[in-house]
Amino acid sequence: MRELYIDGEWVDAESAEGIDVDSPVTGEIIDTVPDANAQDVARAVAAAERARQELREMTAFERAAVLDEVTEYFEEHEDEIARGITEEEGKPIHESYDETEYVINSSDDYGHDGIRLFGDVVPSEHRGRFAYTQHEPYGPCAVISPWNFPLEVPGGSIYSAIATANPVVFKPAEETPLTAYHIAEAFAQSSVPDGAFNLVTGAGGTGAELVADERIRLIAFTGSTEVGQEIAKTAAERNAQCLLEMGGKDPILVLDDADVEHAAASIVSGSNWNAGQVCCGTERVIATAGVHDALVEEVVDQTEELVVGDPFEAGTNVGPMVSDRIQQATHEHVDEAVGRGATVRTGGESEGLYYQPAVLSGVTADMAIARDETFGPVTPVIEAADYDEAIRIANDSKYGLQAALFTDSLERAHDAANRLEAGGVFINETNNYWERLLPFGGYKQSGSGGRYGSKWHLEAMTQTKAVMMNYRDY
Ligand code: NAD
Repeated sequence: MRELYIDGEWVDAESAEGIDVDSPVTGEIIDTVPDANAQDVARAVAAAERARQELREMTAFERAAVLDEVTEYFEEHEDEIARGITEEEGKPIHESYDETEYVINSSDDYGHDGIRLFGDVVPSEHRGRFAYTQHEPYGPCAVISPWNFPLEVPGGSIYSAIATANPVVFKPAEETPLTAYHIAEAFAQSSVPDGAFNLVTGAGGTGAELVADERIRLIAFTGSTEVGQEIAKTAAERNAQCLLEMGGKDPILVLDDADVEHAAASIVSGSNWNAGQVCCGTERVIATAGVHDALVEEVVDQTEELVVGDPFEAGTNVGPMVSDRIQQATHEHVDEAVGRGATVRTGGESEGLYYQPAVLSGVTADMAIARDETFGPVTPVIEAADYDEAIRIANDSKYGLQAALFTDSLERAHDAANRLEAGGVFINETNNYWERLLPFGGYKQSGSGGRYGSKWHLEAMTQTKAVMMNYRDY
């Protein structure tokens, strides 16, 4: 059984329970990690609490230097980390390299932007007074992450937390805890103060223990809406700050005047990247009547070109799904849609965890596949009478992570960017898209508490203090 990383040391867990980690690529057990218990969590949080002062007293330049050391570790071990992500999660190897590259390239956005997280000097309404603001950390931060981006998703929150002097207790997903050991080793080899970064592995119960600990003042959670809402309730009892990034049901709208081939390519990539297991994956296509039939044909043709198979092979587009549980939900959505009149135009069969990407037409907005997160390599297409109906269907969702529109009309592009209820809108580009320097996050039940990415992430992890100095009237 692996160890935990607490207070600057690799230590045995108090818990005797372990979690076997299996590879979706082969189905074989590749390692066992502790299912950390309440004592393990309390020990990690106590270490974070002790490190609070030291981390805070470091300058932002010194904290940025620590993050540079961490990034250096990722650069030196990039091949090993990328192969490890594919082995434990199943995504094609080129996608794993996209993930490692993203983290390596964006490290500056956190450490070095942390140096530039200036406060404001504020004009006072009274004479002889000097007023300003400064950003301050909250305190010990729980970073709880999902399995679909085991390096990138926790990486952004961990970098931001350390840059802004919030000590971290990291609880990775139980399906993909092995990448987390690289993150912990990177900190172990850095000059970060003992206790400023801690790793506890385990399942949902370990996460719940962490969230319930009163010393945790900030929770950066990425995962399902259901779990995020449960965490928010616990945190509300003591007013701990929550940054929540949750599920989505992202639409791509295609209008009559769109470039069909380009729209189809963006849809096929958006629906099938990481076997459809992306929070901002393309979960719905809404096509207006004049383009619908041609678009469906093109999406089917391009989907049939995807290579499903061994994710370590360079030519593979779609690897195995992460688990039976996740694949089951995909089958259930497709079956329900077919039972209610939708047609599977291609794919939909599975062999083990390998699922043949599916395209469905005749989908209506009330089907589960059009309302609930599917999280699989499936493209459901809904026909809308016109542009206004397409916008109405797109917004008729409890989610609002990202959305995209394909059109040749500048007026429609601006109008839709304004009307779509989503944290990000992309025109003539897939919705399954993120930019390093753009904020990332959801409207409605897709997220709250701030945004991921560059300066927004740093701001979400700090509270603003107002300071006023009376230098004359006393
Ligand atoms: P999940 O919610 O089941 O688990 C996420 C994490 O929370 C895991 O580490 C899990 O162990 C932990 N957890 C579970 N129950 C808990 C509890 N009661 N208290 C504290 N922690 C608990 O999600 P998942 O299956 O790992 O990931 C898939 C989901 O994540 C999808 O809904 C997807 O949309 C979402 N996601 C969102 C984003 C985003 O940025 N919006 C990014 C990636 C994934």
